[in-house]
Amino acid sequence: MVRVRFAPSPTGSLHIGGARTALFNWLHAKSQGGHFILRIEDTDRERSTPESEADILEGLSWLGITWDEFYRQSDRIGIYREYLKKLIDDDKAYYCFCSKEDLEAERQALVAQGFPPKYSGRCRALSKEEVVKRLNENKEHVIRFKVPEREVVFKDLIRGQVKFDASLSGDVIIAKNLDQPLYNFAVTVDDFLMGITHVIRGEEHLSNTPKQILLAEAMGMNAPQFAHLPLILNTDRSKMSKRMSDVALHDYRNKGYLPQAIVNFISFLGWHPREDKDMMSLDQITSEFELNRVQKGGAIFNVDKLDWLNAHYINSLTPEELAGMAKPFMPEGYELTIAMAASVKGRIKTLAEIQGIVDLFFKLPAYDTELLKWKDMPLSQVTSNLESALTVLNKIGESDYNQANLEKVLSPLAPEGNRGELFWPLRVALSGSKASPGPFEIMEVLGKQESLSRIEKAITKAR
Ligand code: GLU
Repeated sequence: MVRVRFAPSPTGSLHIGGARTALFNWLHAKSQGGHFILRIEDTDRERSTPESEADILEGLSWLGITWDEFYRQSDRIGIYREYLKKLIDDDKAYYCFCSKEDLEAERQALVAQGFPPKYSGRCRALSKEEVVKRLNENKEHVIRFKVPEREVVFKDLIRGQVKFDASLSGDVIIAKNLDQPLYNFAVTVDDFLMGITHVIRGEEHLSNTPKQILLAEAMGMNAPQFAHLPLILNTDRSKMSKRMSDVALHDYRNKGYLPQAIVNFISFLGWHPREDKDMMSLDQITSEFELNRVQKGGAIFNVDKLDWLNAHYINSLTPEELAGMAKPFMPEGYELTIAMAASVKGRIKTLAEIQGIVDLFFKLPAYDTELLKWKDMPLSQVTSNLESALTVLNKIGESDYNQANLEKVLSPLAPEGNRGELFWPLRVALSGSKASPGPFEIMEVLGKQESLSRIEKAITKAR
């Protein structure tokens, strides 16, 4: 059975890139009837925080990414300890007591001679007795892996064959001590013990893969298959960064992007369905997802595309659904009614934009009298047009204040071929602004009393 994992370090908020990694893992598992494992990699005690873990879990749940198993590496220190001890006993890893200063001097000497810097392996030569003696004296140390000096070749499911010369890396540090394993080591142990079949992660981890393969080999473990996802790039092809766009998933949530839109959008960051289509639900994506169709080249993050998708998803909500979802985006005391939701549905890219649009329903903005004029019509005509509208509107009962009826009774008053001379001043009188929903929509939302009072105000202004 396919078993994949998403293994975030809880050292910050969940980024779009992390969300994409989680989603691709989840899609691969679910499309194959497999399991998705969430593993919190919190061995870095200084940098890991509970807030970050909460942000990650919340973000995944919001997107609809569910997990079948959950682990936290800090709960597994005893396990790593056993594997570290075994690796040392087997003479495949060793204690290193070199000081920072020694290492720095060694590095500089190599660089001065034109060699790439790498650890000399000096502490490999320490006798067992010497090691025990230094440990008993509580000498500062780390644990290094004896990296075999050879080429590592593996088949990446996205990138094809990848080769690394491990002899360039030197003996890497795999733990600060028996109780503080580092990333490459803990990952290797966990991927094996958790029966991970596919490691799907960002391209930035490509250079870790040979280390993990060699570590697995040294511990007699089978390594999983690897798939490295393409980088996410800004539209100018630079690496996606805070400078160009929001990177935290919760920023998108707070701005009023819908999870359906985000899922749809990030699934296209490196993958495309066989047929050309833009809008796909999580279910549709799951049934069409194929890992071997993920591209190697960078995936462009185009916010305009996201906005476009989000606008479509908002527009496909019912007014009732939209009114519910918009709640957190409305200021104190404002309630988005179903009629308002219906009138803004097709006009917004994000839920956060609703406030700006519906503001006019709650209070009439101050506006310049000249704005009431359609083209260069005189103010006297504005007054008379609004007055005739007012007379008709006065006669309609409150319950008939709906768009269809209002349009029916007002249309005959609008001059043929020049309908703007009635509808423009009317719309401005009702909204106080240059751009807004149409006059009938606004009146339906405002109701009779408020509509008439706004028109009367405009007439007074224009006189
Ligand atoms: N903890 C690593 C990270 O957050 C996981 C990398 C991996 O998937 O192996 O980048």
